[in-house]
Amino acid sequence: MQRPLADAYGRVATDLRVSLTDRCNLRCSYCMPAEGLDWLPLPEVLTDDEVVRLITIGVERLGIRRIRFTGGEPLIRRGLVDIVRRTRALDDDLELSVTTNGLGLERLAPSLAAAGLDRVNLSLDTVDPGRFRTITRRDRLDDVLRGAKAAHEAGLTPVKVNAVLLRGVNDDEACDLLAWAIAHEYELRFIEQMPLDAQHDWHRDQMVTAEEIFERLDQEFTLTPAREPRGSAPAELFLVDGGPATVGVIASVTRPFCGDCDRVRLTADGQVRNCLFAREESDLRSAMRAGASDDDLADRWVTAMASKRPGHGIDDPSFLQPDRPMSAIGG
Ligand code: SAM
Ligand code: SF4
Repeated sequence: MQRPLADAYGRVATDLRVSLTDRCNLRCSYCMPAEGLDWLPLPEVLTDDEVVRLITIGVERLGIRRIRFTGGEPLIRRGLVDIVRRTRALDDDLELSVTTNGLGLERLAPSLAAAGLDRVNLSLDTVDPGRFRTITRRDRLDDVLRGAKAAHEAGLTPVKVNAVLLRGVNDDEACDLLAWAIAHEYELRFIEQMPLDAQHDWHRDQMVTAEEIFERLDQEFTLTPAREPRGSAPAELFLVDGGPATVGVIASVTRPFCGDCDRVRLTADGQVRNCLFAREESDLRSAMRAGASDDDLADRWVTAMASKRPGHGIDDPSFLQPDRPMSAIGG
């Protein structure tokens, strides 16, 4: 029997973000410090079987219809292709995607496509090698570009590219990024920088807002709304110069979309989070390892969702950044 993952505000979660690792091979400045973080001890990380068991409960009992594998960097999880294959075997109609920095995608794209992945979201904030080095602290732009191409060729389309603009670093690159994405048939989405960095360096008055992004894009392109209403999609989508190319803006901070949120998150160590900004988690891993049945795990998951707060409250004076950074929650 299916039960919805509903909360007290009438929202129902059908989109599951599964973090497969908190580790990463880049060090994006807005995400983690140069030296990296104290990674989760491996015994605390869910095994492939445990991940698949929780996904199966989500799909078969709790109405999950879309699954996004993320991290940390999901491509460094050895079992990724197998986890995708086993997830796909649950249901042909599930929407399966991966959010990745693209390193290693050139090699993995064909096997991911063969395993039943639908598409990838690639994170890339600049197409300038020097800026890429500054932002990610690694000299790997070429690998990422080859990964994007391989994903496109493998049919993991549309390849969506997520870009974060940082003041004084790449905030003048909005138009160039869009022109580059359109030329390669990638769908670009700008994401407002959020207070989820491990270093707590985020400042509201420093972030590049959606408003500024529109001002910059308006200098070279004509944007018209591409879909009304937006539904639960976080991105506001626009046709570029009449289409068919589009660009999205995810204004999590300045135009929050919490009222339409349909997401739930599972961390690499098996904690259910009902929001990216949640301050509480529900420990499914310990319950599972203590012998909990599927029914019991489903009950715990339903309970965890019921207490979802109406919004993230970033703009409230009382806002508290979550204890875990984005890389440990699963972006
Ligand atoms: N490593 C993979 C990647 O970079 O795509 C997946 C995990 S990463 C945490 C997921 C997304 O979160 C990326 O698109 C990244 O740009 C974004 N991200 C990380 N820190 C962020 C922040 N402080 N504000 C907004 N987006 C952030
Ligand atoms: Fe790694 Fe993704 Fe964070 Fe960059 S944004 S450091 S690629 S987890």
